[in-house]
Amino acid sequence: MKHKSCPKCESADIIPEWPLLEYGHLNQQFHLHVGINEDPDAILFKGHNIHVITAWICGNCGYLEQYVQDPKVLFERYLQLKLQGKVK
Ligand SMILES: [Zn+2]
Repeated sequence: MKHKSCPKCESADIIPEWPLLEYGHLNQQFHLHVGINEDPDAILFKGHNIHVITAWICGNCGYLEQYVQDPKVLFERYLQLKLQGKVK
């Protein structure tokens, strides 16, 4: 979809990089995100980093693709945690 047309219906009516929101207590808004803890073994301050998720939406058929922000940074941190045996 980042190629400017829908892979399902080939429409060029694309809404790019639309933020995805979720609602918490008292309707507080949050951006949908992927989180990674810098120190997963910590009890309190885990150093939670977030990578916001945005969507590309087809304005014709409604097909939606999601992308995480800064995927290379996220993947490098994942590899570091994997080497440390802290994630699978
Ligand atoms: Zn479409």
